[in-house]
Amino acid sequence: MTAATIVKCPECGGDVELGAGVMVAEIVDCGICSSGLEVVSVDPLILALAPDAEEDWGE
Ligand SMILES: [Zn+2]
Repeated sequence: MTAATIVKCPECGGDVELGAGVMVAEIVDCGICSSGLEVVSVDPLILALAPDAEEDWGE
């Protein structure tokens, strides 16, 4: 089975399609809300919001 897998976006709840070769730590974009999502597990497939690259690290 090499069909794409549908995972729920943790941000908007929309369907995010992942290819069969997806790997942990891969960053994908939600096609609905455009959030950056990090693959934190592949079995089962779990997505989490990726760290915001534009976040201010200072302070
Ligand atoms: Zn989304």
